[in-house]
This record gives sequence, C-alpha cells and structure tokens, in this order.
Amino acid sequence: MEKHANQIEYEKRIGRTLITEEQIKEEIKKAGEKISALYDGRPILLVAILKGSFVFMADLCRAINVPCEIAFMCAQSYFSGTESSGKVNVVMDLDRDVTKNHVVIVEDIVDTGRTLKYLHKLIGERNPISLHVVTLLDKKERRVVEFTPDLSLFEIPDYFVIGYGLDCDEKYRNLPYIAEYNINI
Ligand code: 5GP
Repeated sequence: MEKHANQIEYEKRIGRTLITEEQIKEEIKKAGEKISALYDGRPILLVAILKGSFVFMADLCRAINVPCEIAFMCAQSYFSGTESSGKVNVVMDLDRDVTKNHVVIVEDIVDTGRTLKYLHKLIGERNPISLHVVTLLDKKERRVVEFTPDLSLFEIPDYFVIGYGLDCDEKYRNLPYIAEYNINI
C-alpha cells in the first residue's frame, strides 16, 4: 500500500538521531541514582513541566528509589513552530501547597533559560523545603538569561530537536529518541 502524503511529509521532517533510546536509558539510570543518593530516603515531590517533560518524568520517576510524589505544571514559551515568543505563560498551575516538600523540577530542555528562571522563582517563592532542577537536555549556547540546572543529562548544540516528549507543532512527542528537526525539506 502506498504511503499517505502526510506520512511522507512527517517522516521527511525527522532528521538525524542526536540521542538514542539506549543513551537516554543509561543517563536516566544514573540521574535516578544521583537523585536518590542526594535525598537519601527523604521524600521528594517531582514537578514535571508539561507538556515536553511527560515522557522524561515517566522514566525518571521509575529510576528513583526514595519516596516520591508527582505533580504537574504547564508552561508555554513556544507558541508555534520553532519560534520562541520570549514570554512564559503558566497555563496550568500546581494543585497543591509545596511548603512541606523537597521539590525537584523536571524539565525537557533548557534553551534561552527564560522558562526555568521564571518557574524556579515562582515555585521558590512558595517556600518549599528545598528546590532543585533536573533537565534532560541543555542548549547552553542559546542562553539569554542566566540559569544553571542542578542536573543536566545531555548538553546539545543549537539544533531544534524533537522526540521523547519534545514536539514541533504538537507532533513527534511520541518518537522514542531525540532527533534533529528538518526545518527545510
Ligand atoms: P526556554 O525558555 O529555555 O527558551 O525554553 C524552554 C522551552 O522551549 C522548553 O520547555 C521547550 O518547550 C521549548 N524548546 C526549546 N528548545 C527546543 C527544541 O529544540 N525543541 C523543542 N521541541 N522545544 C524546544
């Protein structure tokens, strides 16, 4: 059967694989061990920043062995395609108080740093017992505001990437690996 035109266009946009499933798995195992050792039995609250970190959160929480609760927050900084708006919008806030929690923010990627700088301040002002940030990807060279995550699994160059939760116009989140997005085809 011939491929549908949508499928052909969809596949053409998936570029070179930057990070394989195996590499992700390996780094998540190490990150889980580091986080478990850092809290050493103390309960933590993982806060995933939606939508991009939903896959990372699902795998990371299963690599952690301290008592662990999960919560979600939805922030938008990209409104369409690959263009950043430069503004951070909290579309869905936390549904709980965090004053009794060691909070770990779980993010997919730090790019300009604006989103995490904003969310770190916002959550920090709610007085959690402690606050740390873990990110799957870090595009250090793209930073426009100063922000350093406590733990970063992969540093990547300035490519627009898709997969493992990261989208382009809401698609490609279900790719099990990280690929470069082909902007021009
Ligand atoms: P920042 O505020 O650090 O510029 O951007 C953070 C957000 O921008 C991420 O949570 C993610 O949603 C989006 N973003 C930044 N770079 C990329 C990228 O290469 N690919 C995708 N899909 N999203 C990105």
